[in-house]
Amino acid sequence: MRKTIGIPRGMYYHDYHPMWTKYFNNLDGKVVFSPKTNKDILNLGVSKCVDEACLPVKIFHGHVEYLKDKVDYIFIPKFISICKREYCCPKLLGLPDMVKHSIEELPIVIEPEINLRKVNSLRNAVINTGRIFTRNHFKIANAYMESMEFQKYYKSLLSLGIIPTEDHQNTHTKDIKILVLGHSYNVYDEFINMNIFNKLIENHVNIITADMVSADDINYYSNMLPKRIFWTDGKKIIGAAYSLLEKNSIDGIIYLSAFGCGLDSVLVDLIQRKATSKGVPFLLMTMDEQTGEAGFNTRLEAFLDMMEWRNKNEDYISSIW
Ligand code: SF4
Repeated sequence: MRKTIGIPRGMYYHDYHPMWTKYFNNLDGKVVFSPKTNKDILNLGVSKCVDEACLPVKIFHGHVEYLKDKVDYIFIPKFISICKREYCCPKLLGLPDMVKHSIEELPIVIEPEINLRKVNSLRNAVINTGRIFTRNHFKIANAYMESMEFQKYYKSLLSLGIIPTEDHQNTHTKDIKILVLGHSYNVYDEFINMNIFNKLIENHVNIITADMVSADDINYYSNMLPKRIFWTDGKKIIGAAYSLLEKNSIDGIIYLSAFGCGLDSVLVDLIQRKATSKGVPFLLMTMDEQTGEAGFNTRLEAFLDMMEWRNKNEDYISSIW
């Protein structure tokens, strides 16, 4: 019988799920995802996770709690470094340990360490994970190679603005271009982002995400800072924002942040200053488990009204919002 692997629909799921799914399927495993984030998942997470954690980490706990009785394994990679000379957030680094500490009666946790600062880390992660399912190294290598092809295709869709969590396409019928920024698990989770993409699309806004900015631009413009950003997500967010601001390619920025996020406290300040210096409106939406959709909608609508008014009446309104 095929072994089932539970993949929680949170954190880096939003970046890597096609690759993981293909890899396990190729090894004759059966992938089971938790449902899209909803209020019940959030409540499960809040009940299991430590209070100090940020919203996406709490939600991730909820996804694991949902899956734990339904699968043979749970997949929670330990992301330490996914780019040379860079790091992931410490909460990602400690995620498997946090979950194991907080949630009882888990099935076997598959927790490969991804640390590109170490030689052969990725190779070891691929081989050691694959050996849970087969001793055939050729099959494991093949599963990985094919999964990488899936991943490249998924990334190419994101770079074209095809937003993975939405029913609607990113159709642009107005001149307003808004960059929606934040960590992928905040930007692409419809519950955390309060369905912002649909709301923007309904308002005919042209949406841009950091995934639509080229890696070259991200590297080049993130290097404008006097000190190198050593968080991979941080570099992507800063590089995308600076690139589009320097090229005058956007009319506004909406930053989706999780309350208590240490990285965002730095990134938001840097981007807000840059946006202000360029006269580009900036809206910060900070989410936690108490955030209500009504308040979110009111702020978003006011921001969009202001953007439209501003577009018609030139640069009259302050860019600080
Ligand atoms: S980067 Fe921020 S939101 Fe993401 S896991 Fe770390 S603290 Fe949480």
